[in-house]
Amino acid sequence: MEAMVPRTTLSFYRYVRLEDPWAFRGELLRQWSALGVFGRTYLAHEGVNAQVSLPTALLHAFRNILNAIPEFTGVPLKIAVEENGRSFRKLTIKVKPKLVADGLPDGTFDSTNVGEHLDAGTFDLLHQDGATVVDMRNNYECAIGHFEGAYLPRSGTFRDVLHEVTDAMAGRRQESILLYCTGGIRCEKASAWLRHQGFSNVCQLHGGIIDYVRQVRAQGRESRFKGRNFVFDDRLSERITDDLLGTCVQCGQATDRIANCMEESCNLLLVQCPQCAAKYADCCSPSCREIHLLPVEAQREWRKGRVTRSTITKAVTNAQAHQELIREQEAALALNGTLHPELSDVTRKVIPAS
Ligand SMILES: [Zn+2]
Ligand SMILES: [Zn+2]
Repeated sequence: MEAMVPRTTLSFYRYVRLEDPWAFRGELLRQWSALGVFGRTYLAHEGVNAQVSLPTALLHAFRNILNAIPEFTGVPLKIAVEENGRSFRKLTIKVKPKLVADGLPDGTFDSTNVGEHLDAGTFDLLHQDGATVVDMRNNYECAIGHFEGAYLPRSGTFRDVLHEVTDAMAGRRQESILLYCTGGIRCEKASAWLRHQGFSNVCQLHGGIIDYVRQVRAQGRESRFKGRNFVFDDRLSERITDDLLGTCVQCGQATDRIANCMEESCNLLLVQCPQCAAKYADCCSPSCREIHLLPVEAQREWRKGRVTRSTITKAVTNAQAHQELIREQEAALALNGTLHPELSDVTRKVIPAS
């Protein structure tokens, strides 16, 4: 087995014109693979958005490679707050039409007219003074950590969050509004969009939560961001403070644990306490649990023809409805002994009658 080399997870983005993102892709794949870089990177004509993990010893070499590319020179690298060395397992670089799926009509507004960038100290002062703070992330990201008093969107995609926030803040066009997101990239678009919508005083947390935490820790100050920071890699989240801001969608107790349902055809994202994780075998429901607890061959047989591991992030957002579903399933399970009558065919195929 390969010895565990210490790795560093980091992210960076830049809105910069890339004439030929496909050529960039080939070049980055070649250079980064040679360094043992893993991660997920998006390239578009409008720039780069990268989340990667690499051997810590090669951090300097990686920075040199980036600096040698004129479009990427001096790009700020945001180092992950909490490292487990397993954030990514492979390298994917994709060319996309846009860096973030915002659904906004490009060309109809000035996307370079962005909000004022605030450092952590200034952001905290304004937050303390009662300024309106808006979380620009999705509902499941806000669920386990956020700035106290922030507006927390109910929407599950950035596209919907943008419209929700525009509506929710409609009466505050003259007030100062402080936006924040994970690493800052979403606020670049959101602040320009809100300005276009007539908001006169839009500010954004520069470098997002990740760089905010780095700054307050370097300054020896207490973080006003509480709980866990959701991240888009295998770590799922990193601990910022010990506060438990989440609520288990299965039993309602306070927890900051977020996980995917382990049933591969489901993969639903849910805030789930450790007790419920044990009770439901790391699954979202009794139905998924029944499949997940089958012998691996039977699971495989059952999944034939079904879609597995959706790449679209879907989260349980209505805890009440989800608990109702669980109650119904438990009742049906008690009555019938199974939630999957089709399994009798599956097990007959996999385990031949003796
Ligand atoms: Zn629970
Ligand atoms: Zn499930």
